[in-house]
Amino acid sequence: MYPPGHLAINGLFVAAYNALPNVRSIPLWPAVVAAILPDITDKVATDFLHWMPYGRNYLHNLTAAVAGGIILALLLRSRGAGISWCIGLIGHLVGDFVFVPLFWPWVGYEWPDEYRNIAAGVVQTVTDVAGGHPLSELAASVWHFRRIGVECIMLGGMFHALQPWVMKHRIPFWTRVTAMLFALAAWGYIVVEWEYPAFLNYVQFYTIK
Ligand SMILES: [Zn+2]
Repeated sequence: MYPPGHLAINGLFVAAYNALPNVRSIPLWPAVVAAILPDITDKVATDFLHWMPYGRNYLHNLTAAVAGGIILALLLRSRGAGISWCIGLIGHLVGDFVFVPLFWPWVGYEWPDEYRNIAAGVVQTVTDVAGGHPLSELAASVWHFRRIGVECIMLGGMFHALQPWVMKHRIPFWTRVTAMLFALAAWGYIVVEWEYPAFLNYVQFYTIK
């Protein structure tokens, strides 16, 4: 998933947590970091440093969710920040469900083949755009524009729906509900359009015994 989709899911998860009865509300920013950071660290480790065979590794697993949450909570003396990181990282794994090494490093994985060099493609995109050239093949291989568009709709809907965080009564309830349904529909479309085989695998795994 691209950053807009990750941000939308993490925003939703933190809002859902904060809506629980009898919990102290948690800050959003650690979950926002957890939406973006794993794709930077893990892609750099894979594509530039060649430490790992596939670009979801060090921060794409449950250990990183729990350990990161504990470290952040201790460093900042804020339980809420730790919980937000943990929820955000789990949200990131949900967004990337097609393949995530959930129990790495405790369990070995067969890593998928990746034909793109994503980190190099991103850098090439910046170079191409800054130089005013059309995107080269390396740069273009990284961006799936229709999917990014749908993820932006997802993020926009989620942002609109979750406005009560920011301003309490300005936006009518029904428009927020509509926006949320829109965002969830966009997410559903993403899964059906681009992640259906992986989705079916999960359904089979949990239903057919
Ligand atoms: Zn990721």
